Amino acid sequence: MAHDATLPLPRFKTASELRQFLDAQALMKEGFASGEGLPNPWEGPMEPGRNQPGQRVFRRGFVPTMGALHEGHLSLVRESARRSQQSVVSIFVNPTQFDRAEDLKRYPRTESADCAMLADTGCDAIWLPSVDEVYPHGPEVREHWDLARLDARMEGSHRPGHFAGVAQVVVLMLRAVQPDLLLLGQKDFQQFRILQRVVEQAELPVTVASCPIVRESDGLAMSSRNRLLDPVARRQATALSVALFAARERGRGVSPQALVEGVRQELANAEGITPEYAELVDVERLQPFADWPEADAVLCLAAWCGGVRLIDNVLLPA
Ligand code: AMP
Repeated sequence: MAHDATLPLPRFKTASELRQFLDAQALMKEGFASGEGLPNPWEGPMEPGRNQPGQRVFRRGFVPTMGALHEGHLSLVRESARRSQQSVVSIFVNPTQFDRAEDLKRYPRTESADCAMLADTGCDAIWLPSVDEVYPHGPEVREHWDLARLDARMEGSHRPGHFAGVAQVVVLMLRAVQPDLLLLGQKDFQQFRILQRVVEQAELPVTVASCPIVRESDGLAMSSRNRLLDPVARRQATALSVALFAARERGRGVSPQALVEGVRQELANAEGITPEYAELVDVERLQPFADWPEADAVLCLAAWCGGVRLIDNVLLPA
């Protein structure tokens, strides 16, 4: 039973209404009724070996977002719909992950446009919880996870408390939605690694998958914050991806130090850009290295442009 794209998608404020709808829909949806419905791993052990790559073998995919949706978000929803029998998107601007009150205040909120954009993506339901719904005891970080120092550098060191807030809200949301697939963007690479770790540590029956960065035609990584750029800053912001692509081109032909230094120099010289960090780390531990490792590496950066903080990265495969 595909969703009729001319009708608004079902939206829910509370987790219990959302789950009730999803459970009822699961009984009616194509495939489920014919006995192909997948068991809920939150209610019992996972069947070994059922997650074959490329197959639509997940029961429920979940895409958490903070709204102000763009093609990057939609690519995650489409991937969820390709791999799962049901797909859920949440839109929630999580107060506990903002290290600056000003950033939280300015964060773009475009709820009705967001819901309209999800119409043709394979999304089955949208969850729009209030702060009170997610944090009945107040928006504070109460549950701390051991992040194995994956938060020691980059976003973690520049945004104190950010990943504690992200980890807590994602665990709360996973418990509420009960998906078996969580889709995250490579755009926030450090967040992806940290959430992989947290899901493992919390022993949640969820596969964590990352999807490639979707970019504007001039290379700028799509981001909700791009809306805050004025036309001049928007042009200047391309310097981030230009520096990263140049580094990817040089690749492992130069030393790791020379590669990072090149990016730092390029950003420092770029008009309108104030770099915050550029770091080259391995994808597993997120630690810098003196010699190229056998593992994949990722080159991450954050910079300010026109009063807006932007992040981006490129993978440097082994
Ligand atoms: P946000 O709304 O910024 O919290 O992002 C929600 C999800 O979308 C996160 O998993 C992000 O990594 C992902 N995302 C954000 N921007 C992009 C992009 N340009 N391409 C792919 N995924 C993205």
